[in-house]
Amino acid sequence: MPIHEGWLADARRVPSPNHNARPAGEVSLLVLHSISLPPGEFAGDAIERLFTNRLEPDAHPFFAEIAGLRVSAHLLIRRDGECVQFVPFHDRAWHAGRSRWRDGGVEREGLNDFSVGIELEGDEVSPYTAAQYEALARATRALLAGYPAMSEARITSHAHVAPLRKTDPGPAFDWAYFRQRLAATAILS
Ligand SMILES: [Zn+2]
Repeated sequence: MPIHEGWLADARRVPSPNHNARPAGEVSLLVLHSISLPPGEFAGDAIERLFTNRLEPDAHPFFAEIAGLRVSAHLLIRRDGECVQFVPFHDRAWHAGRSRWRDGGVEREGLNDFSVGIELEGDEVSPYTAAQYEALARATRALLAGYPAMSEARITSHAHVAPLRKTDPGPAFDWAYFRQRLAATAILS
């Protein structure tokens, strides 16, 4: 799954206007998220609509609350493993919000500046699918190959970088299984 000009080769592209340039060009951290829209439902195109400012506020009570948000992620991995990319990796997607990360001994804020955001379609408690772990491992392997400042030690969660606000991808995300799939992907590719 190589990366060409910031886009994953086999991702479906749904370009989002919700992005801008990275101030220093740095791409060195991976932040994992989860999302489902409406919450708890895994179907439809509402996530794509949210990330492209096309969510219909009248379609669901929750949509009315969030339709005005201007947010995005680089990549969404759906339940069947499909990858949908909204923003090229070299640009800044708007996924982490207020966030901080201890980088070496330095506390850094504004992680969107230098991180890639990947959303897993999920509700934080339902187990993520094997297809999602497989796609995530392959995408992560491509990022590690394409952006040398990335490393396996620089993979974190939204919950970790915004602990008082966020809990995603939640207890359902199996870090050990993900690390295992990532290691297997390294050997095979
Ligand atoms: Zn998140």
